[in-house]
Amino acid sequence: METDWSVSMNGHETEMRTARQNEIQQKLESKELLNRFGFAFNTVDTEAVRRAIGDLLYAVGEDPCRDGLLETPKRVARAYEELVSGYTTDPVELVNNAIYDMDYDDMVIVNDIDYYSLCEHHLLPFVGQAHVAYIPNGKIVGLSKIPRIVDMFSRRLQVQERLTRQIAEFLDEVLEPKGVAVSLTAQHMCSMIRGVKKHNSNLTTSAMIGDFKIDREIRNEFFSQIGRSPSL
Ligand SMILES: [Zn+2]
Repeated sequence: METDWSVSMNGHETEMRTARQNEIQQKLESKELLNRFGFAFNTVDTEAVRRAIGDLLYAVGEDPCRDGLLETPKRVARAYEELVSGYTTDPVELVNNAIYDMDYDDMVIVNDIDYYSLCEHHLLPFVGQAHVAYIPNGKIVGLSKIPRIVDMFSRRLQVQERLTRQIAEFLDEVLEPKGVAVSLTAQHMCSMIRGVKKHNSNLTTSAMIGDFKIDREIRNEFFSQIGRSPSL
């Protein structure tokens, strides 16, 4: 990274910030981390999706050439580009300019983050809310970035448990905080509209790291802040 020293009023601070950014960037670009968090920088082959959806329409007994379905393969392909855009989000671009040094060691909570994802077993949506908290250890991240981190991992083919874990572990990697807590609720279309049809089935998952894992009081504070009983 190039640094323009002349615009810096406080060269020392700029130097530190740049070194820290380099360190985070290096970590986020490491093969190990990209593999571990399932980043894949190949884009959706929209042509292949169109062909596959045409085949699917035919396979379920529809006429892909009838009026209402003519444009469907194209629409679905476009929808999928968005639904799985999380694989190609650049994590460096997403967070690296929004991490700041700060002496603040109270719990930071962002709750009620709406998200949607696709269940990898049925390719049907699950939608719900994410609640994310961490206890800083010298570094904080811009608050608007947390919903974007949730998006980055939810706009993929997922299972709710892994999604929960990935959000927590990613924050743990970039912030090295004293602890991270993530709780997700979801309604899964695959269980609502098919099979047992438990229409109101709501699945809650959580991931606790560091202080949230070892300290029951801190964990309970998190659950009470998000309006959830600790037993869930
Ligand atoms: Zn499913």
